[in-house]
Amino acid sequence: MEAIESLQNTETQEPPDFSTSNSDEPPSACNSQSNVITILPSRHVAHKPSTSNKTKIFRKLFYPDIIDSQWNDWRWQIANRIRTYEELSAIVELTESEKNALISHTQLPMSITPYYASLIDRNNPLDPIRRCVVPTIHELEHHHGESEDPLSEDEDSPVPGLVHRYPDRVLFLATDFCSTYCRYCTRSRIVGRSNCTLPNKNWDTALRYIAEHTQIRDVLISGGDPLTMNESMLEYILNRLKAIPHVEIIRIGTKVPAVLPQRITHSLVSMLRKYHPLWINIHFTHPDEITPETMKACNRLANAGIPLGSQTVLLKGINDNVETLKKLYHLLLQCRVRPYYLYQCDPIVGSQHFRTSVAKGIEMIEGLRGHTTGLAVPHYVIDAPGGGGKVPLLPAYYQGMDGNTIVLKNYEHKYFYYPETT
Ligand code: SF4
Repeated sequence: MEAIESLQNTETQEPPDFSTSNSDEPPSACNSQSNVITILPSRHVAHKPSTSNKTKIFRKLFYPDIIDSQWNDWRWQIANRIRTYEELSAIVELTESEKNALISHTQLPMSITPYYASLIDRNNPLDPIRRCVVPTIHELEHHHGESEDPLSEDEDSPVPGLVHRYPDRVLFLATDFCSTYCRYCTRSRIVGRSNCTLPNKNWDTALRYIAEHTQIRDVLISGGDPLTMNESMLEYILNRLKAIPHVEIIRIGTKVPAVLPQRITHSLVSMLRKYHPLWINIHFTHPDEITPETMKACNRLANAGIPLGSQTVLLKGINDNVETLKKLYHLLLQCRVRPYYLYQCDPIVGSQHFRTSVAKGIEMIEGLRGHTTGLAVPHYVIDAPGGGGKVPLLPAYYQGMDGNTIVLKNYEHKYFYYPETT
């Protein structure tokens, strides 16, 4: 009965008319034809963030005619994403491997915001930011154990655009669009297909499913990147979810503060704060992502009372050493982002060059736990292939029992004993 009532409540609301022009709409996410699109300054361009020297130099070299109000406009950033071999080779010295990958058209398209491209070292193919977003020929290799959908999300999808694996929570895939595509993306089988941020025809079916299943208390909106959608589209989903009585919390998964921090406008934050309790988990990879722009974006979200967490994929040669992760996590805590998950890289097709051993992941936790603030230590997990869900992995702190005593090994590898309660 409760389910039927909540379904009725949510269905009485008309979807907004997305077809009309909206000042918050990414103007050319779907139909950008030219390299540089001029957008008049709008009242939604709320700030001129301070910036790093790296970004300043990059702008001078490659976008000398672009004024601050354009560069700091998230819609300009989306409209002018770098997507082709020609566009990228104009700003980066490409290797043969990168050239061949771009010419061969890998499964996942390339897309990089000009802002994120400004963080790339154009002369260093091993630059961590570059490796995350510029394809190499290794993506075309297929190794043992890799698959298109290693987490079997499609099997756990009761209706299109929804994954229902754990009884009390669902994953709502609101869009397949991201401003910047990560080469190791778990959902590379589905993201980047429509190449635009349009309302999805599956939303209402997914919302109806959530309303009908009263055990669902937690909805994670992800994709693609939900924060690339315009505010009316995102608010439509948030509003419908908020009207379902058994949905206790809403979470958003995004990489926007790292790749498109200009998107975190006052207007967006004012809308989001109406939907508390709302949590945001941000995908961060490397300390080089923590720029003045990103810090400002995180502060703005945190000031709106939104608890922020981070998710990081452990990547070979990019962030698989303790000092890099420690630096990242220390910077995140300064931005009021709590390191939440460190993921073992999922075995999607063409991911072997990104994947470390599991022993390496455990070594990372061993190097962090006890050696820094506990808040800076995330959970290291493997999302079990085949749909097993997240399995946490820890160094062997618990060494077993000695009679009625628990044997513990601490971060300095010293042994301690705790009397077990019988
Ligand atoms: S931002 Fe997330 S969904 Fe988008 S490409 Fe990166 S990992 Fe995939």
